Amino acid sequence: MKVAVLKEMADAEKRVAAVPATVEKMVAAGMEVLVQTGAGLASGFRDADYQGAGAKIDDHPEILLAAGDVLLTVQRPSAEELERIPEGVALVAYSLQSRGDASFSAGLQRRRLTALSLDLLPRIARAQNMDVLSSMANIAGYKSVLLAAGALGKFFPMLMTAAGTVLPAKVFVLGAGVAGLQAIATARRLGALVSAFDVRPAVKEQVESLGARFVALGIDEHAEDAKGYAKEVSAETARKERELVLEELKTTDACITTALIPGKKAPVLVTAGMVKAMKPGSVIVDLAAEQGGNCELTEPGKTVVVHDVTVIGPVNIVSSMAFQASQLYARNVLNFLLHLYDRQARKVSLDRADEIVKGCLIAHAGEVLQGGP
Ligand code: NAD
Repeated sequence: MKVAVLKEMADAEKRVAAVPATVEKMVAAGMEVLVQTGAGLASGFRDADYQGAGAKIDDHPEILLAAGDVLLTVQRPSAEELERIPEGVALVAYSLQSRGDASFSAGLQRRRLTALSLDLLPRIARAQNMDVLSSMANIAGYKSVLLAAGALGKFFPMLMTAAGTVLPAKVFVLGAGVAGLQAIATARRLGALVSAFDVRPAVKEQVESLGARFVALGIDEHAEDAKGYAKEVSAETARKERELVLEELKTTDACITTALIPGKKAPVLVTAGMVKAMKPGSVIVDLAAEQGGNCELTEPGKTVVVHDVTVIGPVNIVSSMAFQASQLYARNVLNFLLHLYDRQARKVSLDRADEIVKGCLIAHAGEVLQGGP
C-alpha cells in the first residue's frame, strides 16, 4: 500500500500529516511512504529525516498523487484540488466535512474517493489514541493562555517585591472541555487565580482538581447528551449564565472562551455589553472564533480593541505550534491507519460495521454518506 504525504496546500497551514517517527512505523508495517519535498519543513522536519525513516521524497505532487493509495493531509483539499486526486484514493484529513460547500461533496462523489474525516471519530476508549480533536484542543488551550499573557499588560503570578506586592491576574475560562482544562492548567502554572464555568456540571471536580474555582450556576439542567457533549441550554439557563458571566467578567483580567456545541454555531456567552463592563486593559481570547465566536465582538483571525478590552480571535492557533501539533496529529493518523490496515492484503480494509469506520467515513465509492452540505 502506498501512502502519499503532500506539502499542505493552504498557505497558513504549517502542520504536516506524517512525521519521520510515524513514517518509520508505517514502513515497518509494510507500507510504502512517499513524501513531497519540503512537506515537513514548516513544522521542523527535514526531507533527510523522512528519508532516514524510509520514505521516498519527490518534488512532483502529481506523481505522488498518482502513486498513492492513501493520501494523508491536515487541511481539507479544495474542490479544484480534489479533481487532481486519482479516482478511488482514500483521503484521510483532520476534517473533510463540506461545511456548506456543495462542490466539495460533489467532487468526493465524482472522483469516487474514500473520505475519512478524523474530527468525526467517536470519543470512545478504543479510539482514544486517534483522537485528533483532543490532541489539537490541548494545544489550543495552552497557546490561548500564552496569547492572553502576551496581550495583558500585567503579570500573571503574584510577586512580592521591595516596591510592594503585585496581585495575581484573574483568569476566567468559559467552557471546561479539553481546551478549557488545558487553559486552566497553563494559567495556574503561570500563577494566575483561575475560575471556570461549564454547562456540564460533571466538570466541576476536574476544574477544582486543577486548582481553579468552579463558578456554579445553581440550576439543575442536565445540559449533556448521551455522548458526554454539551447540549444547547434552555432560554432560562442561558439568561442565568449571562448574569453569572457578567459578574465574573467585572473582575477578570483575561478571559479564555472555549465553549462549543458539536455541529452547531458556538454559543454567544460574552456580549458587547459585558465587554464594556470589563476593566480597561483586559483581554479575551476566543478559541471558538472559527465556529462563530463565544464573544459578540470577536473577529476571526483578528485582534480588535473595543471598550479598552483586547479581543483576540485566533484562527488555526494550533498551526503556530506546528512541531508538536504535527507530531501529535501524525501519531493519531498513524494509529487510525494501522486500525484500517490489512497487513496480509497490504491495503486499507473498511469494515463498515466498525464504530470507528462508521463514525468518520464521509464518502465511499461515489456515495456521500454524511458531512455533506
Ligand atoms: P467541545 O470542544 O465540544 O466543547 C468545549 C466545552 O464547551 C465543553 O466542555 C462544553 O460542555 C462547553 N460548553 C458548551 N456550551 C457551553 C455554554 N453555554 N457555557 C459554558 N460551556 C459550554 O468539548 P470537548 O473538549 O471536545 O469535550 C467534550 C466531551 O468529550 C467531554 O465530556 C470530554 O470529557 C469528552 N471527551 C471524551 C474523550 C474520550 O472518551 N475518548 C476524549 C476527549 C473528550
